[in-house]
Amino acid sequence: MSIEINNLTKLYGQQKAIDNISFSIKAGEVVGFLGPNGAGKSTTMKILSGYIPQTTGTAEVMGINVAANPLAVKQKIGYLPELNPLYDDMYIVEYLQFNADIYRLRNAKEEIERVIEKTGLTAERRKKIGQLSKGYRQRVGIAQALLNNPEVLILDEPTNGLDPNQMGEIRRLIANLSEDKTILLSTHIMQEVEAMCSRVIIINKGRIVADDSVENIKKHLSNGSQEIYIKFKNTINIEEMLKLNSIQNVVADGQNGFVVTAKKEVDLASVLFQFAIDSKTVIAEQREKEETLESVFQQLTNNV
Ligand code: ADP
Repeated sequence: MSIEINNLTKLYGQQKAIDNISFSIKAGEVVGFLGPNGAGKSTTMKILSGYIPQTTGTAEVMGINVAANPLAVKQKIGYLPELNPLYDDMYIVEYLQFNADIYRLRNAKEEIERVIEKTGLTAERRKKIGQLSKGYRQRVGIAQALLNNPEVLILDEPTNGLDPNQMGEIRRLIANLSEDKTILLSTHIMQEVEAMCSRVIIINKGRIVADDSVENIKKHLSNGSQEIYIKFKNTINIEEMLKLNSIQNVVADGQNGFVVTAKKEVDLASVLFQFAIDSKTVIAEQREKEETLESVFQQLTNNV
């Protein structure tokens, strides 16, 4: 396993920031760590990166116990902290050199060139960090995290505070990095998980409330029902549709359009096709309404 956490708990004084959480991440996975502010994402990532100790439980990165060997772990991972601490007065290369020195990197010059190129910083490389846009500052943070060519990347809210264009660029960069790295990235933005991750771990109030593939989580939480949006060519009386036994609910949606809900086991498409024939009309448009991760997230975090 690239990452393995068992029964991890962290108390800040009296306050439980994370409460007995466990999960593991295989090599090559890109996992979204999703939760509202204060859920415990940063705390978990700081423990995993060897920056703070847990109260109880264990955290391992590539088989190394983090609390016992924080330095060994720091050499194996790349970590982008939430509040990416950059020095505005430093030039990009100078800052990367400073970090390379901390890690006592051999081949620092080549590594710095590699990460500058990888993160798309080449055009800005002569600038001071203070002169960069937020998106480029974040690239510098990611470049720093890549210096030791880690197999595991831990990215804490990598797109936080960026405008939509910058977000898109950073997401593309992360997608590109995910080709040969294991990535755990935290976010409170559902679309981000849908765009970049194959799996999602949802945390709320220090507890894990879901851990599954993005697809499964969406399926699993649709309350055993399905929804189809359908639009007919001609006007339909909603009362007639409601008479269909196999349908649970119908809501009008635009001209001749309806959102129809039925139990999952019903072959709703066939029912609606037959209904159109019986009503002497044809179907102009039909699509399954997919549950978004956002509504799933709300269901999960409100119920706890
Ligand atoms: P997230 O990253 O999901 O926003 P955090 O891990 O930062 O959540 O915080 C989890 C909880 O722990 C929050 O209630 C937060 O206020 C608390 N917390 C975080 N850091 C500290 C700290 N250094 N001292 C005291 N409480 C903290």
